[in-house]
Amino acid sequence: MPITEDVTAHDVAVRERWTLIESDGRLQRVVAIINERAIPLKVRHDERVNRVINHTTMTTGAKIEALWEAVDEIGEIAKPHTACRKGCSHCCHTPVLVPVQEAELIGRRIGVKPVKLTGISGRDDIEAGYHNPCTFLDAHGACSIYSSRPLACRQLFNMDRDALLCELVGETASKVPYMNMFDYQTALAMTAIDRRESVERNPRTGRMQPRTVESAPVVGDIREFFPRGKG
Ligand code: SF4
Ligand code: SF4
Repeated sequence: MPITEDVTAHDVAVRERWTLIESDGRLQRVVAIINERAIPLKVRHDERVNRVINHTTMTTGAKIEALWEAVDEIGEIAKPHTACRKGCSHCCHTPVLVPVQEAELIGRRIGVKPVKLTGISGRDDIEAGYHNPCTFLDAHGACSIYSSRPLACRQLFNMDRDALLCELVGETASKVPYMNMFDYQTALAMTAIDRRESVERNPRTGRMQPRTVESAPVVGDIREFFPRGKG
């Protein structure tokens, strides 16, 4: 729960925190330490992630699991420097967007079939707030599917000293100094692209030829795919 539910007091605390973050250099120091320790990993990941994305026989589920593993390795390095702790769950009350292939993988691992969705949900479609917890959040504020949680959750590292900026108080969510995990998010998006093989007539030669059609995957919030959680 938040340090204070008084919106004004919270806004003041958030403003003061950002002033501190922008002036004391801690964030830069911490990120530099992590980046330096992560260099050998990132070199290996760049190569592995490329290999995984372009692998022709690996299933999409196995590719996503390989990405999870890569992000967890970074997480091991980041963990001592983050505000993230077991039982801290403000982020589990915000949108958690998951491509359908990842929802299916989670479903297979936990033995629950995800709801079939169509279309793409965006962050603005899902209400953030303590009234709307992820359906996998347990009564103690812990994730009940921790080893099968999606990349959206695995890659979230608040690099601040505590969870103040993650608190959902007031109308607008605060900016949070999350670690930059863009490469891994992009890799997931590329892995989840829907590729269908088809045959079509070449208008110039009149011959039939194979064609790969790529389209964006269905994306939904974890609550939409699993409205009853593990139930
Ligand atoms: S991202 Fe924020 S809310 Fe989530 S575990 Fe880390 S500090 Fe807590
Ligand atoms: S899957 Fe787990 S970590 Fe992710 S939002 Fe839900 S309860 Fe939180």
